This record gives sequence, C-alpha cells and structure tokens, in this order.
Amino acid sequence: MTDPDVQAVVFPTVGPALFAAVRAARPGRVVLQVPAGLVRNAHELAERLRDEGGAPVILAARPCFGACDFPSPDEAPRSELAVVLGHAPIPNVPLPRRTFFVEMREPAGDPEALAATVAAAGLPRRLGLVASVQHLDLVPRLEAALAARGYETFVGSGDRRLYYRAQALGCNYTGAEAVADRVDGFLFVGTGQFHPVGLAFAVDRPVWALDPLQGTLEPPIDRATLVARRQLAVAAARDARRWGILVSTFAGQNRAPTALALRARAEAAGRQAELLYFDRLDPRDLEGRAFEAYVNTACPRIALDDGPSYPRPVLTPPEFLMVLGALPLAPYRFDTYH
Ligand code: SF4
Repeated sequence: MTDPDVQAVVFPTVGPALFAAVRAARPGRVVLQVPAGLVRNAHELAERLRDEGGAPVILAARPCFGACDFPSPDEAPRSELAVVLGHAPIPNVPLPRRTFFVEMREPAGDPEALAATVAAAGLPRRLGLVASVQHLDLVPRLEAALAARGYETFVGSGDRRLYYRAQALGCNYTGAEAVADRVDGFLFVGTGQFHPVGLAFAVDRPVWALDPLQGTLEPPIDRATLVARRQLAVAAARDARRWGILVSTFAGQNRAPTALALRARAEAAGRQAELLYFDRLDPRDLEGRAFEAYVNTACPRIALDDGPSYPRPVLTPPEFLMVLGALPLAPYRFDTYH
C-alpha cells in the first residue's frame, strides 16, 4: 500500500507493485508521461495500466525531458494521478498531482568485468562515481569491484534537487562537486553523452563514461573544447545591447527570480532586457525578434547543447555575468540549477 498523502512515490520498474498501487489509488484518470527515448513503450504500458491498474489512462503526447516538466492541468485535464517513466523525483519541485515515478532501474552490468575495463585503461586511482538513475544500483557493486583492484572511490550527496547519492541530473552535479577535490577523475556509469558532457562542464576533472550494458569505456570528455566553445559564445554576445531573458513556466525550470535579478543587472550595466515566457522553447520562437542575444534561465542544457540551433547567442546566467564583467571567463562556471 502507498500512502495517499505522499505526492511522489517511486517504483524501480514497471511491474506488479506499480499496478497494485494504481489500483489502490483508484484515480478517476491517469496521465502517462514518458521521455522521448521511451515513447515506443508508451502505448503498451497505457494498455497494461488500464488492464492491470484498472484505471482510465491518457497519454501525454509531449515527451518530457526530466522530472522538472509535468503535464499541466490543461494538458491532462481531470487526471488525478501521473505515471512518469524514466525519472526520479526532483525533491524541490512541487508536483501538481500525485505522481508515480517509474525509474526503469536496469539490473544488467557485470561489476567485475567493468572494473577490469577501468583498470586496463589506466584510470586514476582516486575516482568519483556518478550514475544515471537507471544504473544507480550498480554503483555499490562497482565500488567494491574497483576497491579490490586498488581503487579509492568517492560518491557525493548533492543538494535538494537530487533524490539519490551518486545521481546525475543534467542540470545539477552537486553530488560530484562535493567530492571533486578528493578525486583525480570521475567515472560516469550510464549510457549516452548527455550526462558525461554536463559533468565535464560542472567539474574541472577528467570525465570518463562507462556504458554498463555494452561494457565500453569512452575516452575522457574534451572539457577544454567544450569550455572554449562557451567562451566564444560569451565573446560573440559581449557587445549586445538588447537582451531577451528566457523564463520557462515548467515548475522545475522556472527561475523567474533569477530572471528578474538578471534584468536589473543588465539595466544597471546600461543594457536593455526583456523577459520572454514560454513552456517548451523552440528555436523558431526566437526568430525575427529584435534581440541581439538571450539569457536562458530555464534548463541550462538548452544553451549548452542546443545553442547552435538558435538564431542568436543563447547564454546561461553565469555566462551572462561574464559578459557584464561580474564573473571571470575562467574558471568556467556551470549553470547549476539548485
Ligand atoms: S532542467 Fe534540464 S537537465 Fe534539469 S531535469 Fe529538467 S530537463 Fe533535465
């Protein structure tokens, strides 16, 4: 039984516990939200939720990028329960309705073989470990296997935006930052480049990515090039007089107070600035506007990963402070979303 007063409930995977909890909650309607990478599974899961959970289900067509972005009451009318696939809760994000987070924990990965791969590649002996939520269960077993090979590993606890120790979130690596001065490099455990790249922006240490499913170790991320690209973006926007400050209405991406503070700083520095509100940003929304550059207070990865898709430079808030001379260009400051 799950406590009906608790808004966020976590399930490791799709299974009997989830369906039993849905049945017990007796929602008038469930909204199912899946990230882009799992849309293929969405229809089958909707059917199972109806059959085994006994509840009417609607699908949120807009894929979510993180637990920062829920279907609004308008997008999912009369839905009393949300089932969100592939994410852990973000503790400091208020939920609009009761939400079951199905983290899709991945049991695969051989810690002994993975530790052997790390040792064979000659990684430094003091390593920080960070993982995507799907692979968190592997971390203690990998730590033990690495320790047996003479490694000292460090796992940090982050701030109120991280639900677990060792967890990576694309906008927050405070767990890694907490141990950065004790390690000579970081090992990211998971798939894809999204988290290793974010981690490399956040910590001035080499970052390796270990794919536990393929058993492969990628060469370290080229942090110098990533940072140099952002410093070029700062230089390209340095003389811009008219700035658009982007504000998202998603509950977990809304930094309106930051946006207002940045506008005040822009005006104090003799620049013009206007706030632009949106939910999900599309580069086409910024076409034809009379701004020379933008500061994005929503998801920091919009500027860092998608910047080239926009018609004008899009900076993060710390990068904007670099433009104003309030922060130095180096050391580079990642836009941690606290
Ligand atoms: S703000 Fe961006 S990086 Fe952070 S959880 Fe949301 S989508 Fe992911």
